[in-house]
Amino acid sequence: MAQVLFLGGFGRSGTTLVERLLGELPGMCALGEIVHLWQRDIRDDERCGCGARFSGCAFWRRVGDLAFNGWANVDVDRIHTLRDAVERTRHIPRLASATTATDEVREYASYYARVYAAAAEVSGARMVIDSSKHSALAHVLRWADDLDLRVVHVVRDARGVAYSWTKTVSRPETDGADQMTRYSPGRSAVLWNAHNAAFGLLARRGVPVYRIRYEEFLADPRAGLIRLADFAGLPLHPDHLDFLRTEHADLRVGHSAAGNPMRFTVGRLALRRDDAWVRALPSTQRRLVGAVCGPLLRAYGYPLNIASEAS
Ligand SMILES: [Zn+2]
Repeated sequence: MAQVLFLGGFGRSGTTLVERLLGELPGMCALGEIVHLWQRDIRDDERCGCGARFSGCAFWRRVGDLAFNGWANVDVDRIHTLRDAVERTRHIPRLASATTATDEVREYASYYARVYAAAAEVSGARMVIDSSKHSALAHVLRWADDLDLRVVHVVRDARGVAYSWTKTVSRPETDGADQMTRYSPGRSAVLWNAHNAAFGLLARRGVPVYRIRYEEFLADPRAGLIRLADFAGLPLHPDHLDFLRTEHADLRVGHSAAGNPMRFTVGRLALRRDDAWVRALPSTQRRLVGAVCGPLLRAYGYPLNIASEAS
């Protein structure tokens, strides 16, 4: 049975950094955002975290051979059809309340399960990490056969998330031709609520969900990784954390299939809190996001007046 650690949360919440650090632990293999593998990699042949084009990466070629007898045998149109039918955010209430899965849900989940199992075998890792984030996908995966699913729910202050979504970030895997999506703070706040609440629903359905606050994790990554390894059931020796330094981590090459540009970082990765939003997010927008996200921010332990105190 494939063991997968699914990193969930709303975008710009720090899942890529958590994934990169977890991927350094022995027994873990970080795969990036598998939700994008079908289009961006199989079809568009974007770059793997190792720098090679997807088709030129030996790791992914072996995974494709093992899982599907070659990526050419994957019907990407079929996966897109299934995704539209079962994995959109609007499907979450139905997915969460279902007591049995439809054939479409099972079929869609089976593509992921095959990738996980093959990646575990090729890498020799005990557990693979999928940082797809999407809460709807996590709900789908609870119906996958032969899958030991554990979910890490990464939460970041909604106001920091909102500020991040207003910034322009280019996507290096497309060689500068494309930029990452942007949202207004109001839109980001509404989505932050919906996606984070969906992981609460998932936990109530019996899926093991462990919530971390990104800011807390960054303040003490060593303690954070020890807790996550414990949740993942991974034995950890203190030497395994030698790649963590006081204010940075030393990263090896990874094979993340898709995701945030940080997946390309090799060597030194700074571990610093990014609190630029406290000064840079206009106060009207800060108040708007604080009002929309107030109940959940409070539930997660975020002080609502932190911004006004700091500025
Ligand atoms: Zn690669």
